[in-house]
Amino acid sequence: MSSAAMHEAIREVLAALGPDLVLTDEADRISYSYDATHLSHRPDVVVFPRTTEHVQKVMAIARRHRVPVFPRGSGTGLSGGAIPLGGIALVMTRMNRILEIDPRDMLARVQPGVLTADFKRAVEAERFQVTLVVFGHAGDGNFHPDLICDERDPEEMRRVAQAIDAIFEAALRHGGTLSGEHGIGLPKRPYMTTAFDAPTLRAMRALKQAFDPDNLLNPGKLLPPVDGAEERSA
Ligand SMILES: Cc1cc2nc3c(=O)[nH]c(=O)nc-3n(C[C@H](O)[C@H](O)[C@H](O)COP(=O)(O)OP(=O)(O)OC[C@H]3O[C@@H](n4cnc5c(N)ncnc54)[C@H](O)[C@@H]3O)c2cc1C
Repeated sequence: MSSAAMHEAIREVLAALGPDLVLTDEADRISYSYDATHLSHRPDVVVFPRTTEHVQKVMAIARRHRVPVFPRGSGTGLSGGAIPLGGIALVMTRMNRILEIDPRDMLARVQPGVLTADFKRAVEAERFQVTLVVFGHAGDGNFHPDLICDERDPEEMRRVAQAIDAIFEAALRHGGTLSGEHGIGLPKRPYMTTAFDAPTLRAMRALKQAFDPDNLLNPGKLLPPVDGAEERSA
């Protein structure tokens, strides 16, 4: 992505959505540069679509200028998945309408920014009967290791990195996998080549490519580089 392309994309997104929904100030970009991991990276622009048409317009502009797009909900993810590696942070929080709740078929249609608590309240108002599993990793067979550490202490962080390596190595050796629930994102990405063989990774890449031929959607996440080289947004 060239800075000229990014500049032009920002200009077009501003013209399409208006200045209230498009933020470029450094403070705003910092506010959307992180999730619940310790990692962060600033987007070039933060965009808050209100409608499906807004999303379509942003995606068309991004595609035309080959600019990557990083969707984001509340940014509470624990895998770095919502961290924008430059490009557009597409924040879905203003698309937060519950479109339909059908208690008979136990079906709901919601916009992507609906908060779980709001949905739960609406469902309860509809007397929608659901069984909620509130907690319990012992039962579902995954470990939820939390490492308590001081990020300002480089020596401690070095030991934390070693511990993380050891945890994943042990999990894979015992037939486990990298994530029980939170996903791969950035920090677990380097372990993907250990967890999966080359044909499986090829199949995953082929699936991603079918939906995202220009590698514009959340590039740099989940799938490891091929032969050490990052896939380029073409
Ligand atoms: C204290 C704490 C406890 C947690 N407990 C749990 C738990 O018990 N179980 C659990 O599963 N998780 C848990 N999490 C992790 C996290 O909160 C949840 O996974 C949450 O659902 C993430 O939602 P979000 O909107 O914040 O996603 P984000 O962090 O904003 O995004 C997560 C990923 O989804 C992508 N994304 C977001 N919106 C869209 C969209 N509209 N279209 C396409 N892609 C999109 C992002 O690019 C990113 O890759 C916990 C987190 C914290 C901080």
